[in-house]
Amino acid sequence: MIQQLLKRLQEVYPEMVSWRRHFHQHPELSFLEGKTAEKIAEILRGFGLIVKTGVGGNGVIGVLQGKQEGKTIAFRADFDALPITDEKEVGYKSTVQGVMHACGHDGHTATMLGVAKVLSEFQEDIKGNVQFIFQHAEEKLPGGASSIIATGGLDGVDAIYGAHLFTDLPLGKIGIKEGPIMAAVDVFKLTIQGKGGHGAKPHETVDSVVVGSQIINELQQIVSRRVDPLEPAVVTVGVFQAGTAFNIIADKARIEGTVRTFNPRVREKIEAEIRSIVKGVCESSHAGYELEYTHGYPALFNHKEETALVKKLVQEELGTEQLVELPPRMAAEDFAYYVLEVPGAFFMIGAHGEGENTCYANHHPKFDFEENAMEVGGKVFLRLSAYYVME
Ligand code: MN
Repeated sequence: MIQQLLKRLQEVYPEMVSWRRHFHQHPELSFLEGKTAEKIAEILRGFGLIVKTGVGGNGVIGVLQGKQEGKTIAFRADFDALPITDEKEVGYKSTVQGVMHACGHDGHTATMLGVAKVLSEFQEDIKGNVQFIFQHAEEKLPGGASSIIATGGLDGVDAIYGAHLFTDLPLGKIGIKEGPIMAAVDVFKLTIQGKGGHGAKPHETVDSVVVGSQIINELQQIVSRRVDPLEPAVVTVGVFQAGTAFNIIADKARIEGTVRTFNPRVREKIEAEIRSIVKGVCESSHAGYELEYTHGYPALFNHKEETALVKKLVQEELGTEQLVELPPRMAAEDFAYYVLEVPGAFFMIGAHGEGENTCYANHHPKFDFEENAMEVGGKVFLRLSAYYVME
């Protein structure tokens, strides 16, 4: 059976490429992916799947019901793009100024459509169901996953798997690890209210640039001085804006940043430290402030048995040398929410080929991936399908 599935995947591959290029040329930002969702739904209907649209927003779920009772396995692919201008020179370059599939979500979607097409031809042999979750808004908080789950997107699901194309790994390789693999992400936004005035009369002002600088310096001591060195953590300030001219003391300053952690206790501690630093510095400097601290995605933990299964199937299908034990990364992924609800695992698909065009990291304006990686990923999803609903 599996050989027949893989043979069909190979035949369907050119279609996967054309879907991918279509999505790549027509990227849509998180929460605004209406046309992409429509296109996905239309393709899935063509395979005879039961299709639900508008799931938790722009989410699309396609269900392939087998002819016999059995388990329900879910696969998730995300389909939103990023606010980046495409700088590649390829025929399938983005046609939308300032918007680009710079994280391979076009490829995730095309891969999953290919897998759905192949499996739909074997409906007679399926015991149980395959549920394809096409998720909107992975790149922007609060993300699409939690609303898809809240609208029943995981009801009846026994296990879930997802994957990401990853140009840090060479084509042909699959990276995975049991336990923590992606960090929790939080966002903080701070406005400091000083008192503006003439650059020559600092004593009559509250200088929001000086207050902001002090806060940023102190924030850098949270990880280095206040968190256990054996606990991974990041505090990054990405925005510091203030001032209009060299001789004016800035009235207001704006600081924005992100916190990345794995341990929930460390996550809480860092939030508390940020709140106390901001309060302490602002009070002692006579500045007012507004601090907004938002919890983003939780850390992504791969379940033990499901990770072991992916490893076993990768070894059987691609060979032991293609399996990479991936260290955890401080990036985040809202796939984390699904595996808080049901067992599952998330793996990385090597997408960096020989040429220079696929050497750029995810989110780079020249990002591109080796399209063959979609077939490699598709093989793993087909192996998983065979394991859960065909054997
Ligand atoms: Mn991504």
